[in-house]
Amino acid sequence: MSKKTAVIGAGIVGLVTAYTLAKNDYAVTLYEANNNAGEGASTHNAGVIHVLQPPPWKWKSRLTKNAYKLYDELSRELDFPILETRTHLVYGGSWEKMIAVSIAVALKMLGYKVSLTNRSQLKEDCPVISRQIEGAVTVWNYRTVNPSNIIASLVDKLENLGVEIHYNSPVRRVEEKTNHITVYPGSSGGLDYEYVIVAAGPGSGSLAQDLGLRKVKTGYFKGVMVWTDLSCKAIVAGLRQPSRTEKTKGGAIIPWPDGRVLMGPSFQETNNPYDTSFTDEDLENTANNYKWILREEPVIKGGFAGTRTKNLEKDDFDVQHTRRAIVFQGIDSPGFSTAPLLARLVYEWVMKND
Ligand SMILES: Cc1cc2nc3c(=O)[nH]c(=O)nc-3n(C[C@H](O)[C@H](O)[C@H](O)COP(=O)(O)OP(=O)(O)OC[C@H]3O[C@@H](n4cnc5c(N)ncnc54)[C@H](O)[C@@H]3O)c2cc1C
Repeated sequence: MSKKTAVIGAGIVGLVTAYTLAKNDYAVTLYEANNNAGEGASTHNAGVIHVLQPPPWKWKSRLTKNAYKLYDELSRELDFPILETRTHLVYGGSWEKMIAVSIAVALKMLGYKVSLTNRSQLKEDCPVISRQIEGAVTVWNYRTVNPSNIIASLVDKLENLGVEIHYNSPVRRVEEKTNHITVYPGSSGGLDYEYVIVAAGPGSGSLAQDLGLRKVKTGYFKGVMVWTDLSCKAIVAGLRQPSRTEKTKGGAIIPWPDGRVLMGPSFQETNNPYDTSFTDEDLENTANNYKWILREEPVIKGGFAGTRTKNLEKDDFDVQHTRRAIVFQGIDSPGFSTAPLLARLVYEWVMKND
């Protein structure tokens, strides 16, 4: 076993990082404030492994373009189901068709696998598509997963690899010295490590300050997802989604590997970083965003909500490091998609430091 490493936060980023380090022989201890893994944003998300995350020049977009391949590897190693699919960005009318063609050309030039899909091909993937929809720009190589499956598989695997997972252990403070870095979890005294990875979602900012790094200004956005009776095989979103803004993204119709189909998310600002509450009205409002894409109104079968932490300074992930620590802040969407690549970058950084 080589260097002792602490990972703070058992969301998807912390879990995959702990897994990547542990399988490469690092002695990993994982600290989680909650009594379970994934109870932050990670269990309560839409499960889309994105390929495209506009605008393409952002760091998170560049990560996204390559991360899906690592999910295939992860799914083989951890044995969780994954649905290989595509995203149809649907349009109606000749003006939108022109925009669609330009977008398809631009995406192709940027190296994405895209095609133009006509209405009858679309109906094979999603039979209840509205009569107004004439076609779509289709972006390939998308995947979807049930986030809970991955979290559970990762926890099992970490236990098998001998990773110590301490639940109900919020890290209060970290302190870096020349030869080690000390972590203060729960009410215990300090424990020394060679490296510390902070992936604590809303809790990362104050630990960044302990290390002399900058606390990023973040906000919290609750997303509501709706379960439906739809039977779509591919992701469907509007090329011009009425609810899309930089903060809300716009959402989509999303099939999961277990055959269930979701719609959402729709986002609203909240003060509580762990807000998972929603009302029947929230479900209906979310469903309403997709009415224009569908010929019939879907039956709402339930839903869930989750809150993501967003970097309000710039719409991108923030990563800072000291000699012995890496701190992730503002790991907003597509944080789930990019987690295996972030974990690989951490591993490469730690190896280089060794
Ligand atoms: C509704 C919704 C839909 C989304 N859909 C998608 C999608 O389709 N695709 C996609 O790629 N992304 C999606 N996202 C974004 C994605 O869920 C997040 O980017 C990702 O889960 C962030 O993971 P994380 O590990 O950084 O944070 P989290 O999952 O929040 O984990 C952080 C963990 O740290 C713990 N913690 C906090 N403070 C401390 C402390 N002091 N000590 C110890 N532990 C601490 C918390 O309890 C938590 O468990 C969505 C998000 C939402 C809310």
